[in-house]
Amino acid sequence: LIISVPKEITEGEKRVALVPEVVSKLNKHGFQVIVENGAGLEAGFPDAQYIAAGARIAEGAKEVYGSADIILKVQKPSDHPKYKEYEVSLAREGSLWISLLHPLFYKDIAGKFAAKKVDAIAMDMIPRTTLAQKMDALSSQANISGYKAVIMAANEIGKIFPLMMTAAGTVKPAKVLIMGAGVAGLQALGTAKRLGAVVEVSDIRPQSKEEVHSLGGRFLEVETTAEMQDERGYAKEASPEFLQKQKELIFKHATEADIIITTALVPGKKAPTLITGEMVKNMRKGSVILDMAVEFGGNCELSEPGKIVEKFGVKIIGEMNLPSLVATHASELYARNLLNLLEHISKQGTITINPDDEIVKGCLVAYKGEIVNDRIKALN
Ligand code: NAD
Repeated sequence: LIISVPKEITEGEKRVALVPEVVSKLNKHGFQVIVENGAGLEAGFPDAQYIAAGARIAEGAKEVYGSADIILKVQKPSDHPKYKEYEVSLAREGSLWISLLHPLFYKDIAGKFAAKKVDAIAMDMIPRTTLAQKMDALSSQANISGYKAVIMAANEIGKIFPLMMTAAGTVKPAKVLIMGAGVAGLQALGTAKRLGAVVEVSDIRPQSKEEVHSLGGRFLEVETTAEMQDERGYAKEASPEFLQKQKELIFKHATEADIIITTALVPGKKAPTLITGEMVKNMRKGSVILDMAVEFGGNCELSEPGKIVEKFGVKIIGEMNLPSLVATHASELYARNLLNLLEHISKQGTITINPDDEIVKGCLVAYKGEIVNDRIKALN
């Protein structure tokens, strides 16, 4: 079978779905790999490295999509700037598309694949099980995002993170508040602690308290008797009363923070608003907020997608694609997630989709012209 890797067309996307190291492994498994020319360049992988690893370089996107049995991408499909066609239309009927898709948020995406009879796997829907951990692209990319969020915020603030005792006096450590203790939030906590900050974390899942403590963070707990976590470990949508109580609890902590990093998401829903305009107004001038949930509606009322804005003297970063800013490592990890998934669904260069397999069931969104995923079907 032929695996194709098109160049990403989403603006600002520097990652690439396969890196040379993974190309040679796929060759050994019996796949042929075609890479669009320059696809890996911005992530630090020139064509020559792909050729050395056994890939063929294709000149135009039409060949890359048209000859593929399997299309591997980072980003969800969009309109192709050169061919003025929806990217999925460039794929052959019966081929398999694998990329991040966020089909619970972009609700029409699974139907578009089904209409074109292109099978689709969403890398962000890999079940969070021990067996599937090595394929979990949501975690690999969130980990990198959590790290980069801290580095970016640190770069925007006129303060240092650690306590510093100098002959000229003592500098107090920076205060960082993190909203959401999932994969990204915990990595942000670890990174901020390593830089010497004092870190507070709030999450609606009381289960995350222990993890926050083990990484040296202080947990801000909103007391409730309601079950805040679903059977898969994801947050349930909080009630307006809960969110109000949470805002009252964190107001003091938010207004005293030097940096706030928000990562709170609820699968398939708009991100909860946690940092209000009133909080921003009461923060110290020169503080920084980085809203990692900006793509999904934002956790901060005043953040703007893709921009750094200044409101009431506070810098608010709405960076949409943090992993792309660390494209080399983000691509390496993503490519290994893909390799592990392909190893799970293939044998000697051929693919067998078993819709009843637990991992496939979780991430297959369209198959043979139908939407097949239960979570997506439940939305409609
Ligand atoms: P996510 O990206 O969906 O959400 C980020 C965090 O935001 C979550 O911790 C969530 O509880 C929190 N949140 C939601 N609403 C909030 C609010 N109002 N205030 C504060 N926080 C709020 O989360 P994720 O990183 O994808 O992790 C989801 C779950 O999956 C976690 O339980 C995590 O431990 C688990 N997980 C398991 C595996 C595995 O077993 N292989 C791998 C990764 C994650």
